[in-house]
Amino acid sequence: MKKNNTVSLQEYNTFGVAVSTPLFVEIKSSLALQEKLKDEAFKDALILGGGSNILFLADLSKPVIKISIPGIRIMNETEQIAVVSAGAGVVWHDLVMWCVANNLGGIENLSLIPGLVGAAPIQNIGAYGVELSDVFYDAVCINRKTGESRIFNAEDCDFGYRDSAFKNDLKDAYVVTAVRLALTKKNHRLKTDYGNVNETLVQMGVTKPNIEDVAKAVVQIRTSKLPDPKKLGNAGSFFKNSIVPKGKCARLLLKYPNMPHYHIDGAFDKIPAGWLIEQAGFKGLKKGKVGMHDKQALVLVNYGTSSGKLLWKHAKLVMEGVEKKFGISLEPEVNLIS
Ligand SMILES: Cc1cc2nc3c(=O)[nH]c(=O)nc-3n(C[C@H](O)[C@H](O)[C@H](O)COP(=O)(O)OP(=O)(O)OC[C@H]3O[C@@H](n4cnc5c(N)ncnc54)[C@H](O)[C@@H]3O)c2cc1C
Repeated sequence: MKKNNTVSLQEYNTFGVAVSTPLFVEIKSSLALQEKLKDEAFKDALILGGGSNILFLADLSKPVIKISIPGIRIMNETEQIAVVSAGAGVVWHDLVMWCVANNLGGIENLSLIPGLVGAAPIQNIGAYGVELSDVFYDAVCINRKTGESRIFNAEDCDFGYRDSAFKNDLKDAYVVTAVRLALTKKNHRLKTDYGNVNETLVQMGVTKPNIEDVAKAVVQIRTSKLPDPKKLGNAGSFFKNSIVPKGKCARLLLKYPNMPHYHIDGAFDKIPAGWLIEQAGFKGLKKGKVGMHDKQALVLVNYGTSSGKLLWKHAKLVMEGVEKKFGISLEPEVNLIS
């Protein structure tokens, strides 16, 4: 929708925040993208996928390039593995469903994650014990300055927990145009021991699950506990889980013996941010038109505001509350755009 020569982004972000951009273009091929990047007016453009991992804080002064590059195909295969290539504009869940329908295993646990394929490597999406990096083959990217195409393998991407080089050293340097995944054609390595996947499979009456069963279980779990952004504006987990030094975790455990915590490596443990937020009293707490979800404390919810600033103000309140109680600084997982 155009207003005063600007374009509203309200329907392009899952928080439903009402901000505008002076210039908006939708791109459907790598060639079109290369052409657009030559245009001086689009030099500093925001690259937008499904808008499910961003919080707009104010009207943008920069243009927006919405990536809608389509296409899914098998690029090459052996007896065991197929390398599937998907355009950056493919809806992530559609890719998962395509792979499940073609009996290609590896991303069934990532069912129903909103957003598009091109954004998946940016924060190394993950859920139910699987991360994109587990199946990542490579990504085709365009250099925003030179327009040149470059292939990034997993090492180049430097994946971490909800993190990659694209959020750090390579921030705003490349646009992902396609992602390629190495998936199993047989002897699928099912991962069902995370969250309540096993429990849900049992409830579904499944004793010998296949990848389709796992996908169905994950969809069922996610639908029952995560708010649907079409009904209630949100961007999924607003904060990352907290990675703390083992010593700090041990000290906190003396005070909070029931605190959930997971071993990361010899130096660090992970504490679920949802638990910290709940203990600090924010789970289900609504302040006017914003709040943290009542079933999933990590999810910041828009209960009817069009202001990204108001949402961010609440997120900062939560961060202060957790810092005060536990001495832990929560880190936003969502990209703040101003
Ligand atoms: C209800 C809900 C549940 C969620 N659950 C999960 C979950 O379980 N696990 C998880 O990891 N995430 C989850 N998310 C977050 C989100 O779905 C993912 O981060 C997703 O990958 C974002 O995709 P997008 O296309 O919407 O990206 P956008 O929000 O459009 O963009 C995110 C960032 O990536 C950049 N970007 C987008 N496309 C490209 C591209 N082609 N090239 C270069 N940069 C690009 C943008 O500039 C921005 O910085 C959830 C979100 C919601 C709303």
